[in-house]
This record gives sequence, C-alpha cells and structure tokens, in this order.
Amino acid sequence: MGVIAKERMRWMARAPKIDSVLKQRTLKSISRAVGVGLHSGQRVELTLRPAPPDTGIIFRRVDLPVPVEIPMEAEFVTDTRLASTISRGGAKVQTVEHIMSACAGLGIDNLMIDITADEVPILDGSASSFVFLLQSAGIVLQKAPRRFIKVLKPVEVREGEGANEKWARLEPYHGYKLTFQIEFDHRVVNSTGQRVEFDLGSGSYSSDIARARTFGFTKEVEYMRSKGLALGGGLDNAIVMDDTKVLNAGGLRYDDEFVKHKILDAMGDLYIIGKPMLAAYTAFRSGHALNNLLLRELLAHPEAYEIVTFDDEAAAPRGFAEVARAW
Ligand SMILES: [Zn+2]
Repeated sequence: MGVIAKERMRWMARAPKIDSVLKQRTLKSISRAVGVGLHSGQRVELTLRPAPPDTGIIFRRVDLPVPVEIPMEAEFVTDTRLASTISRGGAKVQTVEHIMSACAGLGIDNLMIDITADEVPILDGSASSFVFLLQSAGIVLQKAPRRFIKVLKPVEVREGEGANEKWARLEPYHGYKLTFQIEFDHRVVNSTGQRVEFDLGSGSYSSDIARARTFGFTKEVEYMRSKGLALGGGLDNAIVMDDTKVLNAGGLRYDDEFVKHKILDAMGDLYIIGKPMLAAYTAFRSGHALNNLLLRELLAHPEAYEIVTFDDEAAAPRGFAEVARAW
C-alpha cells in the first residue's frame, strides 16, 4: 500500500471533524495578467483559475491546436540553464519559478494556469506581481486536507570543487525554512548581504522575499542577446549591474536583494515537486539545476520522506494555518 493510501485510511478511520483539518487552498475567482517573456520577449497572457482539491498546480498551453496540460512534477523539468522549464509531450513552459514561488509562499495547492506562449511573463522580475494577482483573486480553503512532503532523512546534492563548489541539502524540520548563501565574483553583489535564513512560518514571505528581483550584468546581457536570449529583459524587470554599480535608478529593494532572490527561486524550484514541503533547505551557490537534482534525489529515496496531513491545525507548524496576509 502506498504512503498516500495509508494516510487516507488513517484519515478515514479517525474521521476527524473537517473543521479542524489543515485544508488545501485555491483561488476564489479568476485572475489575469499580460506581459512579456524574459528570454523570448514574446507577449503572453496568463489566466489563473481555481481548481478542485488534489489537482495540484497545472500549466495549460492554450495557444496550441490541442491544449497541453503540464502538471508540477520534478521529472517534467527538462531545462534548467537560465530558468526552470517544464515540458510534456513536446510542449514547454519556461521560467516557472517566480509564479511557483508565489504559490509556495501563499500556500496555494490547486491552480490551473492557462498560458498563451511558452514562457511565463517576467512582469517586474520578482514574485510580487504574482502575489498581487493571487491575492486579488482571493484565496479560499477547500474540503480536503493539505498533503505535505515531510523530509525524514537528510538528502544532499553537490557539484564542483574549490571556487566552483555548490551544494543543496534538505533536512527534517517541523515547518519550512530556507537558508541560502551566495558567493559572486562581483564587487556590487559582494557588498550586500550574502546569507539569508527565511522561515515560511513567519508569515512575511510577501514583504520580505517576494519583492526580490532577478539580476544580471550588462556584459552577460549583451552576450545573451547575441544568442537570442534575455530579449524581454531590462531595467524594469531586473536589477542590472555594470562592473561597479547598480544601473536601476531606484537602487535595491532590500539590502540583501540578491540572496533573497535566490531564496525566492529555490522556493519556486522546490515547489515543482507538487506538494508543500516540511523541511529545512540549506544551499550554497545553488541554482535551478541543482535544486531540481535535489528533488530527484529526494524522490529516489522513498525512505527519506513521507506524505503527511494535519487532522488538527494546532499540530501544524507555526503560521501554517493562517492564510498569508497581504503586504
Ligand atoms: Zn529568479
């Protein structure tokens, strides 16, 4: 019997009152946005729709002759070079990590995301526009228990040595905590905070993490454009730096905006596993590729996790029962 089936039987046998159960969440109404893809520069429309319990988050390419649905599963991640791309049956959606981060941050379990091109719009380069869209639609509780992936044993992935060393790790934790450390060979980035620890139970995702923007360097941007990438990128959707300074007129949104964006990205990358996690994530110079490898490493070790629900909200980690507050 699978872990989920066992959980369900235990759940039915105890028959708790649904009122005290930590419940799944979806949207109350439909929300729409139009923007451009960071890499493709293409115009794209996004429609966020409520979805029934246990649907998970599904992207639907509605521009194709026969719409293709791509559910969130670690194995559907097919490209992690610049962003996280998911693919299924020849259809793909690029740059899913920022909207997935917003869903993780607000605890959205079920959502249908209709999209008219192969890349999620970059909007302002952070997750705050997606937080705004989700909160504008309203978040409702559903009559089904939230299912978490609870990490039982540490899992780690590593890459490179010396100056190229990177790693990411998941460990047991009653809640969801992320600690990230960056190390860039760049004087502007190095003059800011290099390490951040964020606990989702603090309830401060929208104000402390979601506003952190993606970033790039003028030299890289020129090279990427020559390769037909970053065509939609600019000062209104990324922090752009030359060798000595930030070029955006408004400067940084947080003193440690760079490392906070890495936390934002990691939350999005990890949520591709399809369920919220109960774990402590710690990473050094990780990125989309290593984050996806970490998910695959976890899934390859069934003894390292189990699926759990909370019959009583009071037993859930601090802050998990509340619906995320606005800014
Ligand atoms: Zn990002």
